[in-house]
Amino acid sequence: MIYLDHAATAPVPRAVADAMYQVLTEQYGNPSSQYPFGSDMKKQVEAWRKTVAALLDCPADRLFFTSCGTEGDNWALRAAAWQNRHAGRHIVTTAVEHSAVLACCKWLEREGWEVTYLAPDQDGNLSAEQVLEAVRPDTAAVSVMLVNNELGNRYPVGAIARGLAARNPKTLLHTDAVQGLGTFSAKDLGADFVTVSAHKIGGPKGVGALYMGPRVKNPRPLLAGGGQERGLRSGTEATAQLAGFAKAAELRLERRTEIQGRLAGLKAHALDRLLGFPDLTVLGGVSSDTAPHILALSLAGWPSQNMVNDLGAQGICISAGSACHQGKPSHVVAALKLPKRMASGVIRLSFGPETTEAEIDACVQALRRHHDSRMPML
Ligand code: PLP
Repeated sequence: MIYLDHAATAPVPRAVADAMYQVLTEQYGNPSSQYPFGSDMKKQVEAWRKTVAALLDCPADRLFFTSCGTEGDNWALRAAAWQNRHAGRHIVTTAVEHSAVLACCKWLEREGWEVTYLAPDQDGNLSAEQVLEAVRPDTAAVSVMLVNNELGNRYPVGAIARGLAARNPKTLLHTDAVQGLGTFSAKDLGADFVTVSAHKIGGPKGVGALYMGPRVKNPRPLLAGGGQERGLRSGTEATAQLAGFAKAAELRLERRTEIQGRLAGLKAHALDRLLGFPDLTVLGGVSSDTAPHILALSLAGWPSQNMVNDLGAQGICISAGSACHQGKPSHVVAALKLPKRMASGVIRLSFGPETTEAEIDACVQALRRHHDSRMPML
């Protein structure tokens, strides 16, 4: 199998699985139990928190474990809205956020909030000025992702944070940094909420974290109960998941510069191989600031689902992003307002540290075979 869908999820390295296995079978105590077999785990949870916090570059006591990125996004938006509910009921976000943010905004709209959805340009770019201009005196929260999961575009979260201080110092800023984990410093970004998830960097699925900065005051508990996560998210800690998250974070910390360089090399290689491919457009704009692990392409006139199915049958996993829902382009592709033939031919290749150039070559060859052997359907 050739796996080129790391933005969807990443394989778990042996060391991560081993760390989890050990916790499941040997260190299985409940961190709330009072004997050492339990209370030792409480200390262990704090040690894992420190490791993950080191990857985000944030204080450990401001990092809260969650069950996934989706939970972090929902929690952050609701916490920001709650804190500023008397200051205003307006939220600014983008039309290209992950559905974890957009669906939560839709719920907030039903509850009486007004949401402004900003559209990017055709290359998927958004400027800090565009975001700041949409901020009003009654804007409670801004939510802008760090890296778009379908296009790879990076958004200027740091500049938005700095600009907000002048534009409306009350407004809280959330960033969904799920696709950027390991590439930023939460301290430098200056966002009030930062969402991350373990399974994009080789951790297990079902665990994530939410950073809440010093401007977040007395957040309402997400889950009331036994008082875990400093009373804000009760529920027995998912210790094996946390062990896996911390091990993945540790591995990423050790190699992050090398990994970013390697991913950039893989993307350059893929672009080189795709050169001259008929009907091809690189989305996200070749000159834009895009993450090295995501390459979004359009093959105009070639329905993306057919490509995904054809390559899938050959054991090559690529994605139509969330790009294709029952033949319709995803909300992200739709927001780019591309011509129809281009919009319906969007695919995403995404790479991880284990990806090889030979795998990319095999994928490009399979795309060429697909292109040569079929009539376009549009
Ligand atoms: N946000 C972004 C940008 C993502 O790419 C994803 C996962 O695909 C999520 C949020 C949701 O994360 P999780 O799968 O951990 O719920």
